[in-house]
Amino acid sequence: MSEVTVKQLASTVGIPVERLLTQLKDAGISAGDADSKLTEQEKVQLLAYLRRSHGKDEGEADGGPGQVTIKRKSVSELRVPQAAAPRSNTPNSRPAPAARGGGKTVSVEVRRKRTYVKRADEPATGTTPAPRRQSNDRSRAGRERAAATSAVIDESRRRAALEAMRAEQEARRLAEQEEQERRAREEEARLEEERRQAAEARRRAEEEARQQAEREAAERQARGVTEEPSAEATAEAGEAETETPARRAEAAKPKKAAKKAAEPVEKEKEKEKDRPAKKVVRKETAPVRVRDIAVAGRGEYEDIDGPGGGRGPRRRKKSSKPQLQDKHAFQKPTAPVVREVEIPEAITVAELANRMSVKASVVVKELFKQGMMVTINQNLDRDTAILVVEEMGHKAVVADERDAEGTLLDEMQEQEGQFEALPRPPVVTIMGHVDHGKTSLLDYIRRTRVASGEAGGITQHIGAYHVETDKGTVSFLDTPGHAAFSAMRARGAKVTDIVILVVAADDGVMPQTVEAIHHARAAGVPLIVAINKMDKPEANPDKVMQELTQYEVLTEEWGGDTMMVKVSAKAGLGIDELLDAILLQAEVLELKAPVEGPARGAIVESSLDKGRGPVATVLVQSGTLKRGDIIVSGGEYGRVRAMFDESGSPVESAGPSIPVQVLGLSGTPNAGDDVITVSDERRAREVAEFRAARSRQNRFDEQRGVSLDQLFTQLKDGEQKAVNLILKADVQGSLEALRESLLKLTNDEVKVAIVASGVGGITESDANLAVTSNAILLGFNVRADAAARRVVEEKGLDLRYYSIIYELIDEVKQAISGLLSPIVTEEIIGLAEVRDVFRSSKFGAVAGCMVVEGVIKRNNPIRVLRNNVVVYEGALESLRRFKDDVAEVKHGMECGIGVKNYNDVQPGDQIEVFERTEKARVL
Ligand code: GDP
Repeated sequence: MSEVTVKQLASTVGIPVERLLTQLKDAGISAGDADSKLTEQEKVQLLAYLRRSHGKDEGEADGGPGQVTIKRKSVSELRVPQAAAPRSNTPNSRPAPAARGGGKTVSVEVRRKRTYVKRADEPATGTTPAPRRQSNDRSRAGRERAAATSAVIDESRRRAALEAMRAEQEARRLAEQEEQERRAREEEARLEEERRQAAEARRRAEEEARQQAEREAAERQARGVTEEPSAEATAEAGEAETETPARRAEAAKPKKAAKKAAEPVEKEKEKEKDRPAKKVVRKETAPVRVRDIAVAGRGEYEDIDGPGGGRGPRRRKKSSKPQLQDKHAFQKPTAPVVREVEIPEAITVAELANRMSVKASVVVKELFKQGMMVTINQNLDRDTAILVVEEMGHKAVVADERDAEGTLLDEMQEQEGQFEALPRPPVVTIMGHVDHGKTSLLDYIRRTRVASGEAGGITQHIGAYHVETDKGTVSFLDTPGHAAFSAMRARGAKVTDIVILVVAADDGVMPQTVEAIHHARAAGVPLIVAINKMDKPEANPDKVMQELTQYEVLTEEWGGDTMMVKVSAKAGLGIDELLDAILLQAEVLELKAPVEGPARGAIVESSLDKGRGPVATVLVQSGTLKRGDIIVSGGEYGRVRAMFDESGSPVESAGPSIPVQVLGLSGTPNAGDDVITVSDERRAREVAEFRAARSRQNRFDEQRGVSLDQLFTQLKDGEQKAVNLILKADVQGSLEALRESLLKLTNDEVKVAIVASGVGGITESDANLAVTSNAILLGFNVRADAAARRVVEEKGLDLRYYSIIYELIDEVKQAISGLLSPIVTEEIIGLAEVRDVFRSSKFGAVAGCMVVEGVIKRNNPIRVLRNNVVVYEGALESLRRFKDDVAEVKHGMECGIGVKNYNDVQPGDQIEVFERTEKARVL
């Protein structure tokens, strides 16, 4: 390109056209306007002028050894204020002063230096073109050189400008980015502030609304207005009352007052809306108090959007979009999340961690810091759990004690209500004075009315059975007397509908007859009197009726409301009439229960069977208990593995008032404990564990009470003595009855304390406990095992066996009262182990035995023990050694034993032979 216009040159060089024109003019070149063309020559002329004007003459320029050095320095400053940054390309241009304090200036300086060396073969002529007046021919070569130089200058300038531009752009980009970040931060801080204000305003508004509601309520009350409060006011008051932190985080939309208070916030939001979209930062920063970050976060966001009615959703949509693009979408919660953690009585480490939304290891660590080594599955007590929760900055809330249990019971009741209640059989308990014939009466009914399932007519002792008659079904509870009845009543499991009071016609009203009347009255259960032993010649039923009137029990015959039936358990007299009376009474009571639906019931009895595990007799009270159901009973739970009726035959289901023996529970519940069907096993376990923990605590308190009492006693009153007892029994029912009766024996002089009690044989640990607590071991229908007996012997412990409740109680009572007269006691003289059982046509079952202790005597009374529990008491039919009848067999010898009237001897059973001897009683 040989010719350029002034304008082109100006833009290449990077100076304004006017300036170039002035320079051209000064250089003596006539260029009229921006469009006039410049020749090469003129360009060189201009260059020479410029050099001169910058203080370099031709000589100097030529003084160098034929080289040209070009230097260029360009400085640009970037001013990046709030609005679009004004940019300046002009070198050395002064930046505009910062409009606001927040502006930013970036200086960019570009330096270029280039040297062109003339080639050696070229004549060393001045690079500066001659002035115009020099002759044309003389400087032809020079002109060419000048043109080349000029092109080089152009080129280098262009490059320099380009580089500068790039650098500028880069700097600008960086600055912009920085600016954006800064703005985002500012925006965020501002929003946070706004939110805080909004929350504050809302809180104030809510507070106002609440106060308003309260005031109104108070006014209404004061006025005693009877009209209904307005719906709005009710809603407001209701909301204000039920306010919770979670609710507070929710939108305060429906509240008028809140809306008013939130108006300034609204305006703020309008402004915010006008801002560029990119300014919208994520709003879901954590509010100060949240229960759940996900839910509350959203709520907070919507809240900020305000009660915008129709506009709400649109705006939400708009502002939610940029979140995705925004690099700063995630906001670390500005305040720690405080959770409300529910703490039940006991909680595992894992569950506690779960409730705080932290890893279990964090909780373990926390506990470790406090000096506790725990595993994930370990249970923490409530106090420890609360400590951990608070240590970790959360809020501990004590869970409702009855939560699991209470909701279960509520549900149960609700479900029961859904099914139609139908008439159900009555449940009867027989009570009366000792030896008046309770057992005989029950036995007679069982023998004659219960369909026996097993060969030999041996019915299982399951503590209850039902009798089918033409007129209906009756269920009998065969529990040990009135003590068990009161124990069951005390637990609130009122299972008995009718009490049969047995009074011997030859004996009349006795102390326990009176007690039974009181028990029945206290429980609100109607009485039917069975005047027994009517077969006896000395029977005097009128005397009985007469005596009963003293206790306000008046027979119908004499115009009263109590049915009295004359019976004989021995002769089987009047049993039908008694059953009729029971059914009549049941009709009057209108006993009803739903047959459909989940079962609810009560434990009549429970024991631990070596082969079958815990065995419990359940009396179904409503619904139907089925095999496979999951049940909770007291502190135990489990799936019903199998069910048996009183005759030992397996059954699939049991309806209301029907007793069944249940296998599959985790342990032996107490007599009187309720039985509830639960839908799932986890819940069953939860409820059972909760109850077990509670009863453990109660027991602990009880024991502590005893020892404290003792200490107190010893300190205060040297006179009073304490009798410590360890009580073991065959079934839970007996145990409960004994416990209650024994504890009642405490009098002014002696305190009775039961250190331990349980179902099953007396074990070594029981014996050891007796040593440490200085207690007397009492076994009711149970025996001590070999290890326990060793301890008893070594330590000289007092071990007593009983098979009659009243005997045990009387003995303890007499001992306490100091009436230690010599009485007849039992002494076990021999023990044989059954190795095998043979059936013989002549003798029935004959047990092949080995005498393991003492001596077996033919004419002494015996007991059959199974797993150290008495299963039969009676006498021997035969005692043989090698086909010879013998009077006794000594220790270490084998023998054949036939038990009188008992054919159920099994291998592994033990047969103990005892002697009633007279012995001075010591206690
Ligand atoms: P419990 O202590 O109330 O259970 O009384 P039992 O059922 O053990 O009976 C005590 C005694 O009375 C036993 O010897 C029975 O044989 C006897 N007995 C029970 N009922 C009758 C009856 O109706 N007539 C006669 N003669 N004796 C009876």
